[in-house]
Amino acid sequence: MTPEHIKCLIIGSGPAGYTAAIYAARANMKPVLYQGAQPGGQLTITTEVDNFPGYPDGVQGPQMMQDLEAQARRFGTDIRYGMVTSVQFTSLPGPENPHRVVVDDKHELTADSVLISTGASAKWLGLPSEMRLNGRGVSACAVCDGFFFRGQDVAIVGAGDTAAEEASYLANLCRKVYMLVRRDEMRASKFMQHRVKTAQNIEILYNTTTEEVLGDEDVSGVRVKNTETNEERVLDVTGFFVAIGHKPNTDIFAEYLDLDSNGYILTEKGSTRTNVPGVFACGDAQDNIYRQAVTAAGTGCMAALDAERYLVTLEMQDEEVVH
Ligand code: NDP
Repeated sequence: MTPEHIKCLIIGSGPAGYTAAIYAARANMKPVLYQGAQPGGQLTITTEVDNFPGYPDGVQGPQMMQDLEAQARRFGTDIRYGMVTSVQFTSLPGPENPHRVVVDDKHELTADSVLISTGASAKWLGLPSEMRLNGRGVSACAVCDGFFFRGQDVAIVGAGDTAAEEASYLANLCRKVYMLVRRDEMRASKFMQHRVKTAQNIEILYNTTTEEVLGDEDVSGVRVKNTETNEERVLDVTGFFVAIGHKPNTDIFAEYLDLDSNGYILTEKGSTRTNVPGVFACGDAQDNIYRQAVTAAGTGCMAALDAERYLVTLEMQDEEVVH
C-alpha cells in the first residue's frame, strides 16, 4: 500500500509546533501535526504563565496550550494523536524520494517537509525511589509544584542556572531550601550564585549526592552523602526537586541531523533550516539557551515560513521535471 503523503508534517505539540501549524495552515500548506507522548508539551505541567505576551492577567499553562491548539485547528490543521517513532530522511528529497516517517512503530508516511518541534524533557537522577515518589513530593518543576510546599522544608538538586533560579523561587515559598551540589562549586552564573548564597533560608550542601528519596506514600526525607567524608545524613524534607538540566527529544533524528554535543538540533544561523533539505527545527529541540514559550513560538513561526519557501522551490523543480 502506498503510504499517505503529507506536504507539511509537524512533529510535536508545544508552542513551537502549534505556532508552526497556525502559519502553515494559513499559508495553505495543509499541515498534519502529530502531538507526541505529551500533547501540549511541557506547559501542560505548568500552572500560571505570566510572561507570555497578550495575557495581561496571566494564563494557566494547560489553558494556553488548549488555546493554541484551537487556533491551529481553526485554520484547518489536521491534529492527530500519535508519536513519531522513527524517520528516514533523504539528502536529495523530491517526488520520487520523499522523507519517510513512521508513527507509533507501524503507520508509515511520506512528507515533502518536516518541522521538528519535539521539545525537551527534564533529566532525572535515575534513582528508583525518585521514580516511585514522582508526583508525590518529587518534581522536576519548582514553578509548577512549589506552591504545594508552602511553609515546608524542601531540597533541590542541581547547580546550574535553572537550579539556582528554582531554589530562589522555592525560598520565597518554603521555610527552608537545601541545595544539593555534587561538586565543590556551582555552574550557575555569578549573579544567580550570589542570589542563592545570600538567601537567608537556602543552605547549600557542596560535594553532596542524593542516595535515596525516603517515604512510603509521599516524600518524608532524603538521604544524602558527602562525597569527601563519605558521611551520610537524612534531610527532613517533604519536597524533592530535580533541576539537573533538560534533554532534547531528538534521539530519533540523530542518524540524519547535525546535533550539538548535548543533542540539540543545529540550525543555520538566523533560520530553522537543518543540514537536511526540507527538514526544519524549532522550539526547545534546537534551543539550549532561551527555552521560553514565546521564543519557541517565534521559531515555530520561522519554521513554517522557511518550509513555505522551501515547498515553493520544490514545486518549481517538479514543474521543470514535468516539462
Ligand atoms: P546545566 O546543564 O547548566 O546545569 C545542570 C546542573 O545539574 C549542573 O550543575 C550539573 O552539575 C548538575 N547535574 C547534572 N547531573 C547531575 C546529577 N546526576 N546529580 C547532581 N547534579 C547533576 O542545566 P540548566 O538547566 O541549569 O541550564 C541549561 C541552560 O539554560 C544553561 O545554559 C543556563 O545558563 C540556561 N539558563 C539560563 C537562565 C537564565 O539566564 N535566567 C535560567 C535557566 C537556565 P555539574 O556542574 O557538576 O556538571
